[in-house]
Amino acid sequence: MRSIAILNQKGGVGKTTTAVNLASAIARTGQKVCVVDLDPQAHASLHLGIGVASGSESIYQVLMGDASLADVCHKAGDNLWCIPAHLDLAAAEMELAGEVGREMILRDALEAHEEEYDYLIIDCPPSLGVLTLNALACVGEVFLPLQPHFLALHGLSKLLRTVDIVSKRINPTLRLSGVVLCLFESGTRLAGEVAGDVHEFFGQGATAGKTWSEAEVFQTRIRRNIRLAEAPSFGQSIFEYDPHSNGAEDYANLAREVMGLGLVAEDPASTVAETA
Ligand code: ADP
Ligand code: MG
Repeated sequence: MRSIAILNQKGGVGKTTTAVNLASAIARTGQKVCVVDLDPQAHASLHLGIGVASGSESIYQVLMGDASLADVCHKAGDNLWCIPAHLDLAAAEMELAGEVGREMILRDALEAHEEEYDYLIIDCPPSLGVLTLNALACVGEVFLPLQPHFLALHGLSKLLRTVDIVSKRINPTLRLSGVVLCLFESGTRLAGEVAGDVHEFFGQGATAGKTWSEAEVFQTRIRRNIRLAEAPSFGQSIFEYDPHSNGAEDYANLAREVMGLGLVAEDPASTVAETA
């Protein structure tokens, strides 16, 4: 099983949109995919059409030791499953504060399910607290979604340090393996410049030996596309909501890149942006 945490402690950068639509795109190729929603806002669960009533079982009960993953797992589509969250997860951060080994709860819970899925994709909350540490303790990879914004790289050092520390102390195989440019405004000068900065930042030889020194900035840029913003309120992935949109094309291409299949057609918008 390949396991990926979608992480950026900033909100609104495209984590949830990427977790859900990348998972859906991979599931459509026939691979078995499980999405774990670790954000108390439960946006990934709702985006996948899964609403959990207050007090019903969700990832919160798993972290509290009151349920197993099998108890809370929902089928979200063909080859697609979801371990949903509920707002009550917001309390977990505090409730786990005094618990010994609190970063390892999800890893222990997942151990029995290694063989069930080909991909595990975790949608992280916009923080670097105990929920995110649970994600980092159990995945092999981190994908970092970035919005091309002049502060896109600001605050990144804390995130990178956290990944480095988790890898040193509890999960030696952890790597930041991919950077996804989201909400990309094709053709704007800013997007092109920031994309250049991101490539430079992650391409520096000076970072050798870090958990992020081999991070690949995916060639596929997720263009800003209103259909991607509309799909969640219908509880549908972009492939159900509008399979002919740019959003569907971009996430299908990203999935191909992630799976090492190569791109179908180069996105003409990305080259335009760089020269604009
Ligand atoms: P995060 O999980 O990092 O907070 P989201 O994935 O929820 O970010 O995205 C933030 C907002 O932007 C949401 O309303 C989402 O629907 C919208 N959005 C995300 N990606 C795109 C995109 N490529 N084009 C248009 N809207 C997007
Ligand atoms: Mg989110």
